Amino acid sequence: MDFRFEVLKTDPTGARLGRITTPHGVIDTPAFMPVGTAGTVKGLTQQALCELGVQILLGNTYHLYLRPGHERIRRLGGLHRFMAWDGSILTDSGGFQVFSLADLRKVTDDGALFRSHLDGSEHFLTPEKSIEIQQALGSDIAMVLDECIEFPADHARAADALKRTTAWARRCRDYARANAAGSMTPGQVLFGIVQGGMHADLRRESAHQLVDLDFPGYAVGGLAVGEPHAISCEMAAAATAELPADRPRYVMGVGLPEQLPDYVARGVDMMDCVLPTRNARNGCLFTSAGRINIKNAIYADDPRPLDEQCACMVCRTYSRAYLRHLFQANEILASILNSHHNVAFFLDIMSKIRQAIAFGELAAFSTEFQARMEAGQP
Ligand SMILES: [Zn+2]
Repeated sequence: MDFRFEVLKTDPTGARLGRITTPHGVIDTPAFMPVGTAGTVKGLTQQALCELGVQILLGNTYHLYLRPGHERIRRLGGLHRFMAWDGSILTDSGGFQVFSLADLRKVTDDGALFRSHLDGSEHFLTPEKSIEIQQALGSDIAMVLDECIEFPADHARAADALKRTTAWARRCRDYARANAAGSMTPGQVLFGIVQGGMHADLRRESAHQLVDLDFPGYAVGGLAVGEPHAISCEMAAAATAELPADRPRYVMGVGLPEQLPDYVARGVDMMDCVLPTRNARNGCLFTSAGRINIKNAIYADDPRPLDEQCACMVCRTYSRAYLRHLFQANEILASILNSHHNVAFFLDIMSKIRQAIAFGELAAFSTEFQARMEAGQP
């Protein structure tokens, strides 16, 4: 199946209801993608992901490259077969991890030299190398290598990184085209990434340059790095305004539940974040009445479900008292159940957002939802 994107309906806010088709199936958009860093969405079996209705998840190129190694995954049939996941997969370029997690040694126009966080070994990530790895993994959607910058970054610094990002995007595109036969997933597509820091003019310029390179989809990177949410929204809007309406748009690494409708209202079709699973492991649970910390003593005798509005397996089965006990006792099941609910909660918001767009009522939904989330905060 060839990659396809259809916009089915637009909302007065600018939000789009759509559908992406990849070699591994259909994704209803706007979509939230759980993060499966090392070939697993932490705490969730692939069976659970299916039960939750996950249509696409994200894999991290940096982690899989270092361990177990992309050539090993290629030999084992690609990432889908390796992790026994038949749905769609998007892989990042590895750039974000190299620029933020790894011991970054040197960045040149050629690529980024870094030390592995696992064993200190030295590696050189180039645009071509990033695509070679993603082709071995065989994701449905690959991402170009971009230069991720620190926050805050002044105009000159952001402009330099933008220039390099465009040059790298071109090299990624050319390498992917020339070596398409090397991908473990025939029909794999490559998205460009808009950069430009917190400078709206640079965001527009970056979008223009990438549109000239003609990608099947576009991401907006470098947001939610410490800036106020309003700035993040402004940068997303500056980028999406310049991107073609017939291609999907993906804002990387966002966000809190109450922030998701804000991005969608700016014409964003895809988002991802580690928040639901990472917070779950720390006992921070998202509910329709706001966030709760399950380790709090007030839940010790609470027989109610975690979220009475949630229909997930956890909320149908277990009490807050039991979830608190598991967390306090440091039981493995605590992470499993908490992750299950949090991912269910994020997916449920997306389903409600899609429904609201279908009725042309996203603005009303957002106001009500955000007020409810805010009221519930401690
Ligand atoms: Zn639930």
